[in-house]
Amino acid sequence: MSLPADAEALRSGLLAWFERARRELPWRERRTPYRVWVSEVMLQQTRVEVVVPYYQRFLARFPDIAALAAASEEQVLELWSGLGYYRRARNLLKGARFLAGRGADFPTAWKEALAVPGIGEYTAAAILSLAHGLPHAAVDGNIVRVLARLFGVKADPTKGPGKRRIRELAAALLDREQPGRWNEAMMELGALVCSKRPHCLLCPWRGSCVAARTGQQALLPALPARRARVDVIHGVAVIQRAGRLLLRRRGSNVRLARMWELPGCDLVAPVAGELRTGLAGVLAVAPATEPRWRCRHGITHHRIEVYGFDCQLQGEVPVGKDWRWETREVAGGLALTGIARKLLRLLGGRP
Ligand code: SF4
Repeated sequence: MSLPADAEALRSGLLAWFERARRELPWRERRTPYRVWVSEVMLQQTRVEVVVPYYQRFLARFPDIAALAAASEEQVLELWSGLGYYRRARNLLKGARFLAGRGADFPTAWKEALAVPGIGEYTAAAILSLAHGLPHAAVDGNIVRVLARLFGVKADPTKGPGKRRIRELAAALLDREQPGRWNEAMMELGALVCSKRPHCLLCPWRGSCVAARTGQQALLPALPARRARVDVIHGVAVIQRAGRLLLRRRGSNVRLARMWELPGCDLVAPVAGELRTGLAGVLAVAPATEPRWRCRHGITHHRIEVYGFDCQLQGEVPVGKDWRWETREVAGGLALTGIARKLLRLLGGRP
């Protein structure tokens, strides 16, 4: 397919900009398929500055596929706790076990890469181009935004003709001599310049960009409407005994499966009686009249108002492997839910 602009000029302009603007990031050193893989998974839906310390801790503990494959899910979730979207961590572990079971490193063939559990087209293209120098164009949300604006693609880029068009443009624009560097430069432009509110004056493509020329930056890409926000009220029982907090592990077939949390439930209103009634099936508690801690938490389109109540435990002390009493220090090192981690911070424990 021919491009509606001078491809060579676009390529050299972007690569020269990247040479000047690229950030030093830990996953850009000592590049291996595994290091790229972990970084790409962590960076999905998450900002670079949040990912960096998690990435460094993760790589220090699990330096290669074999080390990760040998870990338990709980150990992996402990290091992922606070990063959110825990399915990513579980899939990463599944993928590592899949490869370790075959005694293999990350494949170089496209179809074999896609056969690794949890690897989709974007991640496969990123790993194969960045670590192996193979000519696959990576297309994630950032790159869709850049291409839709640069070429003025008005169709919805998430499906049908719009999606095909973006993929064709990405493939046609790809620098086949240095596909890894090219993909990285595209990602960097999407992150630093062609962001939601673009900085067109700093952009190497401002002279060729359809959106900049026609003032349509805010209209492109033409994404479908977001799901409506859902407001949730969540009550949490903060139960302390001899300097330790009562924690419970979530079930296996629920969201945030097997992660540790402070016992709690969704409420209609943040009142103590509701929390007592909501928890009655699992725990008998007497909450203080008013909540003492409050925070906000977001999960996908849910906006959760969290109310922590000081509670006295009544009746039986829960026992079993899904309950534990821990100091705030120790609790901070567990695979905690995001809400539990935020409350722990408010309580003065380790984040
Ligand atoms: S000129 Fe503006 S809208 Fe166009 S690619 Fe650059 S930053 Fe994005």
